Amino acid sequence: MTAKSKRILVVILVALVTVFASLVFIAYEQTRGYARIEAEKLVVDMLLNHRAIHAYIAKVQRPEMYRLKQEGKLYEDYFSPKTMSFTYIARSIKEFLNEERKKEGMPQIYFKLATDNPRNPINQADAWESQLLKRMNAGEVKDFHEVIEKEGKQYLYAAIPIAPSDSGCLVCHGSPAAAPRELLDQYGDKGGFHEKLGTSRALISLRVPLDPLLASANGIFWWISIAFLLALSGLYGLIHFFIRRLDRSQYALVKANDELLHLSSVDYLTNICNRRCFTDGLDQMINHADRYGNPLSIMIIDLDHFKRVNDQYGHNAGDEVLKAFARLIGTQIRASDLFARWGGEEFIIAMPNQDQEKGMRAAEKLRHTVKENTFPEGIRISISIGVAIYGKGLSRDELINQADSALYSAKENGRDRVMAFGQREEPTTSG
Ligand code: GH3
Ligand code: MG
Ligand code: MG
Repeated sequence: MTAKSKRILVVILVALVTVFASLVFIAYEQTRGYARIEAEKLVVDMLLNHRAIHAYIAKVQRPEMYRLKQEGKLYEDYFSPKTMSFTYIARSIKEFLNEERKKEGMPQIYFKLATDNPRNPINQADAWESQLLKRMNAGEVKDFHEVIEKEGKQYLYAAIPIAPSDSGCLVCHGSPAAAPRELLDQYGDKGGFHEKLGTSRALISLRVPLDPLLASANGIFWWISIAFLLALSGLYGLIHFFIRRLDRSQYALVKANDELLHLSSVDYLTNICNRRCFTDGLDQMINHADRYGNPLSIMIIDLDHFKRVNDQYGHNAGDEVLKAFARLIGTQIRASDLFARWGGEEFIIAMPNQDQEKGMRAAEKLRHTVKENTFPEGIRISISIGVAIYGKGLSRDELINQADSALYSAKENGRDRVMAFGQREEPTTSG
């Protein structure tokens, strides 16, 4: 995999991890919010239930008792909290409700009617409830909801004031003088009197356990998180897979391109530079020679009577000779020289920093080396070489033509010799 693809994958991975963390955070908040919403629903339901109980007692049950008293069917002094006290009745219903919840394995709901002026001391508001009731009566707070922690467990705490006292309520909660005798007998004339019309005597205080709801919300949260993890891992896997595939096809393309480039610049038989590769390289050498004024010489080498080699030993043997010849010359030249197959049994070498004298010497050395060498199947050959020197203003083709014409002179003068362009004397041969 390429470094670029690796970098892309790291960026994608970081982005996906960030998305995952954000989604998990949102899921966490949402599921906890869901637990709280469920608890709120339950609390509102309970509070409305208690209000309904209060309404029934205030509007139906107590007037009915008063009617019975007025009609003389019930004696004037009758009072029982079981039939006439909302506080007593609501508390009793709550106890029955909690018993039922217990049977169903459900957690208990805390319920209290808290007042500053209780008839029964168990309804005494604590300092906090008392403060809240005052703020509710002052109109500062309408209802109150808050998540609280008690003995390591979480609860939704909620409170609303009970309906403001009306004249019916004040029969028992106004002046003790107006209260039924039996109420005074049971509770005395101290607690729960002197309430004012239009004021809420008490607040309904509820505590719903949040933990069971949080536990089921947690379960949902884990499933959502696992689903996100699987989906995002799958997405990453897919991206990884496609990037790898893309990389592979790109690699194959680059390799094929390299191969093509190689084939277009390398001679298939000898594996050395071909004609195109040579002319490109020579252009660069000419530029360099022009800029720095360094000498540059080229030589064209032609294998003498090579047709006879083919005729005598066969074309394959001829090929082997050409290959061995290319290898041999490769070992004789400098790394900075450019050696190529010019075509057929003709080769060409460009030698930077070589003037005519050095160029001729190098060519002579090659001619000797080849003459001394034994090629495959014991074949011996000789070569003719034409040398040309680059001079400012000369084009690449002119330079090559000069070498070619020198080579022609070498052939004309009996082969197995080196001749420079423009050389008039009888060329030298070595025996
Ligand atoms: P001279 O250059 O000395 O004048 O004689 P020559 O016989 O070498 O020249 P000529 O141009 O007549 O023939 C060149 C021969 O080189 C003919 C051709 O079969 C052979 N030749 C060219 N390319 C290849 C090649 O790739 N493989 C083989 N085996 N022979 C080749
Ligand atoms: Mg030839
Ligand atoms: Mg030849």
